[in-house]
Amino acid sequence: MILIAIAIGVALILIGAGASALKSGEGSGLHMSQGILGIHHITAMAGAAQKNVDFYVGVLGLRLVKKTVNFDAPDVYHFYYGDTVGNPGTIMTFFPFGEGPRGTSGAGQATVTSFSIRHESIEFWTQRLKEHGVSFSGPEERSHQRQVILFRDPDGVALELVAHEGADSRPGWEDGPVPSEHAIRGFYSVTVKVRNHAPTFALLTEVMGFRLLEEVGQRYRYEVGEGGAGTIIDVIRQQDAPYGRNAIGTIHHVAWRVANEDELLQWQSKLRGAGMRVTEVRDRNYFKSIYFREPGGVLFELATDPPGFAIDESVETLGTDLKLPEWLESSRSQLEAQLPPIQSPTIAR
Ligand code: ZN
Repeated sequence: MILIAIAIGVALILIGAGASALKSGEGSGLHMSQGILGIHHITAMAGAAQKNVDFYVGVLGLRLVKKTVNFDAPDVYHFYYGDTVGNPGTIMTFFPFGEGPRGTSGAGQATVTSFSIRHESIEFWTQRLKEHGVSFSGPEERSHQRQVILFRDPDGVALELVAHEGADSRPGWEDGPVPSEHAIRGFYSVTVKVRNHAPTFALLTEVMGFRLLEEVGQRYRYEVGEGGAGTIIDVIRQQDAPYGRNAIGTIHHVAWRVANEDELLQWQSKLRGAGMRVTEVRDRNYFKSIYFREPGGVLFELATDPPGFAIDESVETLGTDLKLPEWLESSRSQLEAQLPPIQSPTIAR
């Protein structure tokens, strides 16, 4: 009993310290020229590599823009899917572990990835999902003229297609298996689940520049930057939610866009000033990144827009060859022998 009381006391002190640090961080005087621009990428954990490619390219019609490895554990692939060039805001990424324990989705995690489609594309998509044997629910009406189709990828990652009346001029993948007028435009939003909303609210609005848009039941919707598709986070508050366990079938982290490395460094110092434990800058070859856990436990990353995916292969051939960062080139033959071979899915319109 005493131990429990001490543990709760420590937790309260930590929360208290976090809250006051948030306030002093705000007054630090650092100036962000552009702030956070929207979602950069969302990374999840998959099972079999080929099944993952077949679903995201063959069914959803995203382009495999980069086939590389997990830089921190290079015996596992890292797949990036996106629009024609892999623009930030369109990039869903996976570590396909093959066999392994399955995770559970819950508090302290991103729980749903939502993609943006045109309002006219709803019937196309319900038909396409049926043809590919993907079970779904909806389309269901959500507030502000949004129709949502809910389904899961082959490993259980929760996905949505959001048809909305808001403008979304992003082209998607123009030469993909899905006719370009119906192609996924990029992300619409990401949903995260937290037990306690207040500290997450404080970080998002007082430090990171998000604006609270609406509050429906236990769902709080925020947007950042210019707003609209690709800039939205839904925070679901559920005090008794079990914590999620990260493994196959769950989302690992959400990355937010910043314009360049200068801004990344300014954010690193601003977030540290707000009491977040932020990593050093990591070179991800196609962008640079910092990571931290927001107070609800969700792993956030900030990632630079440049240089993008065309730095080591041409736009025409993106995703064709296994690309490795310089420091892993010496292990190429060993890695290629370990990683399962991948075939591009047969693309049929
Ligand atoms: Zn990432």
